[in-house]
Amino acid sequence: MPDVSRERQLDTPAPSPLGNRALGAYTTLRLGGPAGTLTVATETDEAVTTVRKAAAEGRPVLVLAGGSNVVIGDAGFPGEVLLLRTRGIHVVDARAESVVVRVAAGEAWDDFVEYAVSNGWSGVECLSGIPGSAGATPIQNVGAYGQEVAHTIVAVHAYDREHDTIRAMPPAECDFAYRSSVFKHNDRFLVTHVDFRLAVTGDSAPIRYAELARNLGVEAGDRVPLRQARDTVLKLRAGKGMVLDPDDKDTWSVGSFFTNPVVSAERWASLRLDAPHWPGDDGAVKIPAAWLIEHAGFPKGFAGNGVAISSKHTLALTNRGGGRADDLLALARTIRDGVRDRFGIELHPEPVLINCAL
Ligand SMILES: Cc1cc2nc3c(=O)[nH]c(=O)nc-3n(C[C@H](O)[C@H](O)[C@H](O)COP(=O)(O)OP(=O)(O)OC[C@H]3O[C@@H](n4cnc5c(N)ncnc54)[C@H](O)[C@@H]3O)c2cc1C
Repeated sequence: MPDVSRERQLDTPAPSPLGNRALGAYTTLRLGGPAGTLTVATETDEAVTTVRKAAAEGRPVLVLAGGSNVVIGDAGFPGEVLLLRTRGIHVVDARAESVVVRVAAGEAWDDFVEYAVSNGWSGVECLSGIPGSAGATPIQNVGAYGQEVAHTIVAVHAYDREHDTIRAMPPAECDFAYRSSVFKHNDRFLVTHVDFRLAVTGDSAPIRYAELARNLGVEAGDRVPLRQARDTVLKLRAGKGMVLDPDDKDTWSVGSFFTNPVVSAERWASLRLDAPHWPGDDGAVKIPAAWLIEHAGFPKGFAGNGVAISSKHTLALTNRGGGRADDLLALARTIRDGVRDRFGIELHPEPVLINCAL
């Protein structure tokens, strides 16, 4: 079975003037105070040992990989920060119609997507361009453009601190839901590897997302060549500041700061909103948070102190260079409260807030 070695990896920047414990250096927001202690793990054994040792000593542990879905408070994290940099992609089951690929948690997610597309493996192509690590994708069931990792994950290998053992968790144990899973807001598990089952075909999975179908010039439900799907998703994302670019502060974010609210059908009817919406599970209705934010009076570019809504996407709150985590949270609070006052709908943050709160 091929063991793949590629060139790119998650950034591990050089130490800053505060030393390598200043956590802002490891987050896409470039915000966050110092770590108590910081360990870089390039091997799974090292990562597990670090977590086990800290637990035995009663020190809290923060697992940090790409730092693209965390807001770390200005006071930092007083415990052990484990910077995950493990690597490896292996095919563990190959059949005529599908492969199961095991990806180490510290692999850069988009490197894996590129690798899958270049091998003609379908199932993750619409998740092109999402920052961060492969091991973090199950945490919030990463999704975009009609795909989510729950569609292709067949097992999540995790070190379970409660039982001091590594085990393979089938999807049924992972409780995948919209931007959520058993792993989110739960430090019991350290994900070490993720197994994805991908279809062996040159074509994408059926295109489900209307904007993507439109841009591809096809009908929803059609398939297109994998490379065309990936390139089109990357182009759409770049136009919204959703592909990392160190020179573009519109990408100094966590992507979407708020999840799209889901309300019951009765609630939706009583709101009488002229807003776009989609069907959620069990008859519920999903409303775009971006629409609510804009219609509550917060346009693109709306600024706080050193922070602002991205000029390209209303859902992305960005650090413009001089902001602190407190400034970003103050902006988020203003927006959340404004939407609540205008529509009576509560927005919830999508990133994990570390040692800080909304
Ligand atoms: C520009 C931009 C665009 C984005 N677009 C999308 C999008 O389209 N869809 C989407 O779903 N998300 C999106 N995101 C959010 C983010 O990229 C994903 O959630 C990503 O999976 C986070 O990976 P990470 O390695 O950076 O995780 P981190 O930020 O390092 O960690 C996030 C959380 O997961 C935990 N964690 C990380 N790795 C592990 C592990 N191995 N074991 C246990 N816990 C772990 C951390 O402790 C933390 O609680 C976007 C972010 C940015 C900045």
